[in-house]
Amino acid sequence: MTKVAVVTGGTRGIGAAICEALDKAGYKVAATYGGNDEAAKKFTEKTGIPAYKFDVGNFDECKEAVAKIVEEVGPVDVLINNAGITRDAFLHKTTPKHWHDVVQTNLDSVFNMSRLVIEGMRERGFGRIVNISSINGQSGQAGQTNYSAAKAGILGFTKALAQESASKGITVNAIAPGYIETEMVRAIAPEILSKIVEKIPVKRLGKAEEIAAMVVFLASDQAGFATGATFAINGGQYFA
Ligand code: NDP
Repeated sequence: MTKVAVVTGGTRGIGAAICEALDKAGYKVAATYGGNDEAAKKFTEKTGIPAYKFDVGNFDECKEAVAKIVEEVGPVDVLINNAGITRDAFLHKTTPKHWHDVVQTNLDSVFNMSRLVIEGMRERGFGRIVNISSINGQSGQAGQTNYSAAKAGILGFTKALAQESASKGITVNAIAPGYIETEMVRAIAPEILSKIVEKIPVKRLGKAEEIAAMVVFLASDQAGFATGATFAINGGQYFA
């Protein structure tokens, strides 16, 4: 039977590439997004993949949306926790709001969405969860205490849930991308970005499709022995 995959933040950037790759690999895909209706509309028109709007940081909104996705698309076999934001500043300038927004969107979301699909996966004896962390969750990054903490938190969550779920046919893995060419990275000042690229051994930014290819593998039946792992895809920039 065709498997159902949900990709949070699936309408733009890395998430959109993941949706398209999973769609091509034969999954029934549902994308989610937070507020950019125009991007979501363009994405659905281009791909035919439905997009569901809700805040991944809000448990009640996630609950309502997951129920709708299950009803309209089917029970969730594959969950890709990809939605994320940055609110960068050195700690002495970080506001409590910027701390909470980043932790809520990047880390609470992983709890919210995983919590809402895990019982069904356990009952059916199959599941794939892939959490999109970041190189900066592994290495730390000045100006990103909030983001580094949330992305590092994802790695602990991944290992714990992998242990809980292994005997039920469910794998839980994380991908830690380096700098990938999306709007999030295009928002970095050009002079800072060129310094970043200089430090990447392959001398270029990564492509969203390069992350998507790993997701397709981790979602597959062949990846059943890979669990609790963090896959770094960063052009050799950091070896954890
Ligand atoms: P983008 O900014 O291009 O896209 C982010 C996506 O997440 C959008 O679909 C956005 O929806 C959605 N989103 C944001 N906030 C919420 C929310 N509160 N509720 C629901 N959806 C939300 O990001 P990228 O593609 O660059 O990044 C994807 C993931 O990869 C993130 O977790 C990011 O931290 C991580 N990452 C990215 C790297 C990079 O170099 N780009 C490097 C390492 C990790 P909307 O369109 O409505 O805003």
